[in-house]
Amino acid sequence: MPSSFVLCAHIITLQGSPTVAAADRALREFPDGAIVVDGRGRILDVGSRDQVRIPDGALIEDYRGLFLVPGFVDTHIHFPQVYLRDCYGGGSLLHWLEQWVFPGEAALADRRIAKAAAQDFVHALARAGTTTALIFGSQFTVAQEALYEELRRHGLRAVVGRTLMTHGPKAAAPLLTTLDEGLALCREEIAAIHPNSEAERDSLLRAAIIPRFALSLDARGFAKLGEFYAEQHERGVHFTTHLSENAEGPTGEVATVKKRFRVANYLDVYDGRIGTGRGRPSLLGERSTFAHAVHTTTQERKRLAKAGCSVAHCPSSQLFLGSGTMPWRKISEAGITIGAGSDVGAGDSFSIPTVLNAAWKVHMSAADRVTLSPASLLHLGTLGGAQALRLSDRIGTLEAGKDADFVLLDPRSDELLAKRLEATAGLPAAQARNQRLFALLMGGPRVHSTWVQGRRVPVTIP
Ligand SMILES: [Zn+2]
Repeated sequence: MPSSFVLCAHIITLQGSPTVAAADRALREFPDGAIVVDGRGRILDVGSRDQVRIPDGALIEDYRGLFLVPGFVDTHIHFPQVYLRDCYGGGSLLHWLEQWVFPGEAALADRRIAKAAAQDFVHALARAGTTTALIFGSQFTVAQEALYEELRRHGLRAVVGRTLMTHGPKAAAPLLTTLDEGLALCREEIAAIHPNSEAERDSLLRAAIIPRFALSLDARGFAKLGEFYAEQHERGVHFTTHLSENAEGPTGEVATVKKRFRVANYLDVYDGRIGTGRGRPSLLGERSTFAHAVHTTTQERKRLAKAGCSVAHCPSSQLFLGSGTMPWRKISEAGITIGAGSDVGAGDSFSIPTVLNAAWKVHMSAADRVTLSPASLLHLGTLGGAQALRLSDRIGTLEAGKDADFVLLDPRSDELLAKRLEATAGLPAAQARNQRLFALLMGGPRVHSTWVQGRRVPVTIP
C-alpha cells in the first residue's frame, strides 16, 4: 500500500454540511496549513501545520505559497461539445442546437475523433481544477468507451451516462435511437460503470440516466423512462436533464414543450404528469439534478424541493444563449440545493471559478438582487455540487474521513493577483480572509495541480 503523505499550503475550505445560506459560518482558513492523506486517498487530518497529526514515515511535500482548496464540482457539462464552445448564434437555444450542436455531436461517431475528444475533454476538466463532474455523454458507444477509458486513466470522479434522444429535428438524425435501443444501451453502461456493492464504494464513476431535454423523447418515451428509472434508482443511479432553460417567444423551448406535451408546467413532463398518463413514475428524486431552471414557477420549485432534487446553475451558459438568470433567491429559499455547472459548450469556459465569477455578477444585477458572499461562492463551486450529487459524505470539503479531492492554485503566475493577495495582510482577520477567497475565485488563478482520492491527476498544465 502506498504510504501516507502531507501537503503544506495555504488551505481554505468549508467545514461540516452547511446550506449555502449558512456557508459564511463554516469557512475555515489555515494560512500555514497542512493536509494529511493516507495510502487509500482519505484525509486523516487538516489544519495548521504545527497542529496536524503526522504519521511516522509520511512523505512531506512543501507547497507553501500556493492555495489548496476542495476540488471544484461541475454539475453540468456536455462531453460531445468539447469542441463546440464559442459557436456564434445567440438568443435561441433551439436554433443553436440545430445549427451547431447536433452536427458537432454527430462527429463523435468517428472512433479517431471520439478518442481525441475524450482525451481533450478530460484534460480540460483536470486543467480547470474540476475533480468531479456530472457529464452528459455521447450517443455513440465508441465515444462513451473512449470517455470511460480517459476518466479511468486520469482518475477523475464523474457521474455520467449517454445522452438519450429518440426525437429531434433533421440535424439531430445521426444522434437518434429507438427507445428500446436507447434504454438497452443505458442499461449496458450502468452495468459497466456503476458500483454494484458497498465493496465498490471507492469507485470514482457513477451512472446517470440522461434524456437530453423534454423535446428529445415523446410521451411514451418518458413513461418508459420513468419505469426504467424506478428500477435503477434504488441502486443509486442518478438522473439529470435540462429544465426550463430558454423562453425565447412562442417558438422557444419552454413554449414548445408546453405545447407539444399539453402540460401546464415544463416539469410535468419529467414528473409523470403528461396528458392521460398522469400518475406514471416520476423522474424526480434525491439524485435528480436539473440544469438551468431559469423559468420555473413557484409550484415547480415546490415539487423539486419536496422530491429532494437539485439544480445545476450555469450562469455563463445562460448569458451566452441569452436564456435569462436563474432566480437565485426563489430557488435557494425553496430549499433546493444548487451546484455550479459550466455547461460547456453553451458555457464558454471549463473553469468553475469563471462560472462563480459570472454568478456573482448576474445575481448582483438581477431584479431580486443578491450579493453572494465569498463563502457562498466557494459553496456553490464545491460543497453545493457535492450535496447536489449526494456525494458530500465523500467530497466537497477538506475534513478527516473524506476523500482527498483538492486543487492547488498558484497565484504567483498572475503578478497582479499575487499583489492583491499580499495587500490583504494589513486588513482585519475576517475581512482579509474573505478578500483572499474572493480574489482567488474571481481572479481565476492558474491551477497548479488537481488531486482526486489522494492522487495527482496526470495531466500537463501549461
Ligand atoms: Zn446543457
